[in-house]
Amino acid sequence: MHLRTSFRGKLLLLALAPLALAQAVTIYAVMRTVERDVDARARQSLAIGATVVDEYLAGRNDQLRTSVQVLAADFGLKEAVATGDADTIRSVLHNHGRRVAADIAVLLDLEGRVIAATDPALGPADRPFGAPGDLDSGSQTVEATARIGAAVYQLFAVPVRAPTPIARVVLGFRLDDATVERIVALTGLDTALIGGSSHPGLIAGSAAAVREIGAAPTLLQPETSGVFIVAGAATDYLAVTTGFADRTANGAEVEVVLLRSLTDAMAPYVRARSVLLAFGAVLLLSVAGAAVWLSGSVARPLHMLSAAARSLRDGNYAVDLEVASRDEVGELATSFRAMTAAIAEREERISHQAMHDRLTDLPNHASVVRRLDALLGGGDARVAVLSLRLARIAALASTLGHGASDEVVQRAARLLREQLPGDATLGHLGSDEFVVLLPGATNEAALDCAENLRARLAAGVPLGNADIQLQCTLGIAAAPDHGRLAEALLRNAGLARTEAEHRGEEVGLYRHGREDYHMRQLRIVNDLRGAIRAGELAVWYQPQVRLVDGAATGGEALVRWEHAEYGRLAPDEFIPAVEEAGTIGYLTRYVLASAIAQCRHWHDLGKPLSVSVNISARDLCDDYLPYYVLQLLREHGVPAARLVLEVTESSVMQQFARAAIVLECLRDIGVRLAMDDFGTGQSSLAQLRNIPLHELKIDKSFVMSLPDHEQNGAIVRTVVELARSLGLEVVAEGVESAAALHYLAGVGCTRAQGYFLSRPVPPAGFRDWLLAYRPERRTERRAESRPFRHKA
Ligand code: C2E
Ligand code: CA
Ligand code: CA
Repeated sequence: MHLRTSFRGKLLLLALAPLALAQAVTIYAVMRTVERDVDARARQSLAIGATVVDEYLAGRNDQLRTSVQVLAADFGLKEAVATGDADTIRSVLHNHGRRVAADIAVLLDLEGRVIAATDPALGPADRPFGAPGDLDSGSQTVEATARIGAAVYQLFAVPVRAPTPIARVVLGFRLDDATVERIVALTGLDTALIGGSSHPGLIAGSAAAVREIGAAPTLLQPETSGVFIVAGAATDYLAVTTGFADRTANGAEVEVVLLRSLTDAMAPYVRARSVLLAFGAVLLLSVAGAAVWLSGSVARPLHMLSAAARSLRDGNYAVDLEVASRDEVGELATSFRAMTAAIAEREERISHQAMHDRLTDLPNHASVVRRLDALLGGGDARVAVLSLRLARIAALASTLGHGASDEVVQRAARLLREQLPGDATLGHLGSDEFVVLLPGATNEAALDCAENLRARLAAGVPLGNADIQLQCTLGIAAAPDHGRLAEALLRNAGLARTEAEHRGEEVGLYRHGREDYHMRQLRIVNDLRGAIRAGELAVWYQPQVRLVDGAATGGEALVRWEHAEYGRLAPDEFIPAVEEAGTIGYLTRYVLASAIAQCRHWHDLGKPLSVSVNISARDLCDDYLPYYVLQLLREHGVPAARLVLEVTESSVMQQFARAAIVLECLRDIGVRLAMDDFGTGQSSLAQLRNIPLHELKIDKSFVMSLPDHEQNGAIVRTVVELARSLGLEVVAEGVESAAALHYLAGVGCTRAQGYFLSRPVPPAGFRDWLLAYRPERRTERRAESRPFRHKA
């Protein structure tokens, strides 16, 4: 966990950062103010100190000046000078000097030579004070500083007059530690006396000043206010200077430097700062502690929740969430627990649904595959797979409603389950399709089982008060003979079943090599649209004649496909596949367009023939079909009654309600409708009555064997009777002989079609046939064979 990104880290940061910042800013601001204040105070105290010193010095100098003037006016001194009485001079100097606390008293002649001095270091005729004019300013008192021996003195000199100057008297005061002490006592500041150009260096100073700034102090950063910063040995000082004595135009020869240590000035505040910092640190630490505790108490349950969520993600729902708090986090944990339970429950339901059929709750495709895989175990295990499909469930749904058909499927599922041994698996692959897995079963056992299931369903399932007899087809594929993989076995069982369906059988066993057949069917379906565009499809026509007079009445359009790869394909080979794939609409439209154009062509040849077109079950669900037909008829100027659409019973029954609507539309347009392959289906007469029909087309299986087949003859006669009672025409297809033709004419059949008259031929061949055809001959023949008819 990263401290910066984790919740806990953020909380800590949030608590501490502002506090630390606030403290830093506060301390900084306080210290800045304090420093500025301290600085200002220090400057102020220096300024005051300087003023005090100036005043003190001014007072003192006045006093000294007065003293020296008093000495110069001393009568005794004058007299002694005039008389050259050295002893008296010396004694006057001593006495007076002591009285005014001078450290030195000297009498100079007008040339500046020593006449007498209280300091024995100064002998007679010495010139201690440089040029004679230095102490000479007429009658004025002259103030000067001078180094005499080791010490520096402040000197005051005045002429001794009698009445003209006869000598000069000088009183000197030593500048030393005592002077400094006096100033320190007055100002409370460290003090140093510093000499100017004539005697540079530190003359005297208080202890700290001597220690810090040494014998040759450097004054740094002169400031305009007169304050200097002096770099000391240990600390820096603020300083001011003021002239002490001997002020000349270039400044003072000796200056008083007043010093204030910045460190000392700051000392009390530095302590305060330490206290402040310590307080801040303690505050920060305690807030940090509190934040750590708080963030921990929030973050810990969150960690638990996130760990729980992770384990949930990994599919583990048995998470233990021990969050005791009753706050929002506690609530979250409670919701989380509830959510986990709900997810677990839902997932179980979903995974059950994912593996079971919704309607019957039987294992679905995925689950059957899994079970079959387990049974096969990747080895030579013997497993029989039965694919079962209930017939007519869609038709049942369209007549009785989906509720009823669902119930039938459910009951069928229950029945099947009851019939099966315990180790068998029954799966439901969707609407009407089931699968049975029989572990260890031989082909014979599987066939027996299939027959048993078929018979049980045929015996009927109860629905309401009625029993519904269910037909079904079954296909069988058995491991290891017919495959060793689950998907292959299921597919092969399905193939075996579809083939059985196509053959009209109820149970089929898988035969090798049929996969190729199905691949081919797939290709055919895929190629259809391209083939129409590429002109691979053609429509051929098979003539129909009227039996009363033998006249040609029209032709049935029958599609032909010259496949680029497979060669000529029979319609029986590709039409069921195209119907199953749902693309039959393209074919129907293509044939309709060709046939109606052809019909117009015949008309233009002077032959008002009709054309019959085959329509599939799915076309009957196409609400646009009637419009399409109408458009074509208009386009070619063909009367609607010239078009016959052939439908089969089963195609009508599959979606009876919708089909009836489309058929009615077509009838309203004026198109004729024929029931194709009549006699092979199981539709009830009652339902037939609900369809707007014009003709019945007897299936060729009844016609081809005429007139010898007694039973078929009977069927044909019945159909003709039925048609007559319903007011319908009857067309016989599959007329292969003159005898059959005569027989049909005899029983009152309306029209005939068959190889005897002509095989289906391309349009050009049809025209040739028309031109060659002699109806009279047929009629004659029919007349000749009349006895035949009676015999039948
Ligand atoms: P169908 O509608 O029953 O068509 C009649 C079939 O019987 C045609 O086979 C025709 O050649 C054949 N036939 C005609 N006279 C005789 C005869 O005397 N003896 C025998 N044994 N057979 C005869 P065809 O052309 O192979 O068509 C087979 C089926 O294909 C058709 O049966 C029809 O169901 C379907 N079909 C053909 N063309 C189309 C089409 O354009 N659209 C649709 N939906 N189906 C078509
Ligand atoms: Ca037909
Ligand atoms: Ca037919």
